Amino acid sequence: MAVLEKKSSQHSIELEDKYGAHNYHPLPVVLNKGDGVYVWDVEGKKYYDFLSAYSAVNQGHCHPKIVGAMVNQAQTLTLTSRAFYNDKLGEYEKFATEFFGFDKLLPMNTGAEAVETALKLCRKWAYEKKGIPENEAQIIVCENNFHGRTTTIISFSNDPVARKNFGPYTTGFIKIEYDNLNALKEALENNENIAGFLVEPIQGEAGVYVPSDDYLSKAKALCEKYNVLFIADEVQTGIARTGRLLATCGNCSCANKNCSGTPEVKPDVLILGKALSGGAYPVSAVLADDHIMEVIKPGSHGSTFGGNPVAAAVAVAALEVVRDEKLAENAFVLGELFRSELNTYIEKSNIISLVRGKGLLNAIVINDSEESETAWNICMALKENGLLAKPTHGNIIRFAPPLVMNREQLLECVNIITKTLSEFE
Ligand SMILES: *Cc1c(COP(=O)(O)O)cnc(C)c1O
Repeated sequence: MAVLEKKSSQHSIELEDKYGAHNYHPLPVVLNKGDGVYVWDVEGKKYYDFLSAYSAVNQGHCHPKIVGAMVNQAQTLTLTSRAFYNDKLGEYEKFATEFFGFDKLLPMNTGAEAVETALKLCRKWAYEKKGIPENEAQIIVCENNFHGRTTTIISFSNDPVARKNFGPYTTGFIKIEYDNLNALKEALENNENIAGFLVEPIQGEAGVYVPSDDYLSKAKALCEKYNVLFIADEVQTGIARTGRLLATCGNCSCANKNCSGTPEVKPDVLILGKALSGGAYPVSAVLADDHIMEVIKPGSHGSTFGGNPVAAAVAVAALEVVRDEKLAENAFVLGELFRSELNTYIEKSNIISLVRGKGLLNAIVINDSEESETAWNICMALKENGLLAKPTHGNIIRFAPPLVMNREQLLECVNIITKTLSEFE
């Protein structure tokens, strides 16, 4: 029996290998079921999911309320295109704009599409509102950014693998060091054609780099001074992941109360994706106030699936779960616990040098070179011990479990992680 079962996992891997493009390098585990903080492989082994589909499954796998909303809507009406109205989109737009505190929402499907939308919105605003001469607009981005995979987005990436042989590249971007206010100031000072500053409040893919405490608020103030749009890519950091509804919420103390109050740093343009649907369906969005969003006119931008009734119903349910189950508060408290437990371990560890993060978006840095296999090997051992995580870069492992986790489960996970690490000391 065991041999037969083993085969089924191997079979799935072989199928993907033979018939699928090799654009990922997955951990060799084949999953076929998820529930809350757990996933199961085809052999029936149960794991804690410590990736949450790159923070798309913040609300936990197969959340009944989200799945219920999806199934219900799928049996009623799935797609009309925006050539006609549907009765769900407006309700969702009202709900989400009130939830996040913006005038308007532009619905898309994937994170990369939402980033593209934000860039187009920013450029159009720059020409029509700021008065930048046509085709001269520049957008400032940060080194080591990750904003998705379209041709324009990889044009301003500095990941050689993401870029190589995909040129010619889109122009109009200036790259500065992340978490460096002077660099931002210099870029803004001597250039009248800057339209926007696109930034991740925490650089997730780069390895969970948390900027200095005042970085975002001071960057926002600089943007205001130079009439430049502050564009926050919260595709990964948003929707309660970092212990706040948004990472740009700063210290608005919403760990204690319902966080849909005024954020400490209100972006001019907010980009959401991933957990906006709880991982049930591709749903992304760009939010902005009227004086910005009004440059978008019929015909200037669109998407066949963007704003479809299934997406709208799913997104409302996904946000209600975040609010009703107090996921931001939970992520805040469990995040503090996770880092303090790991810091205790680190005191006597040679294999990991530090843990960093906010809420339940954390990473550990392995005491080895970026080229070493250690982080991958640790992830393989974690898998054996019942916990799934993946290196972000050579020697960094990201830990981002679903936010519906409880204290007891988190402590069990800490045990699995420290026990596994000790095998490598
Ligand atoms: C995942 C991610 C994206 C891209 O989202 P896709 O849905 O994969 O296109 C963009 N920005 C950030 C910060 C992300 O983490």
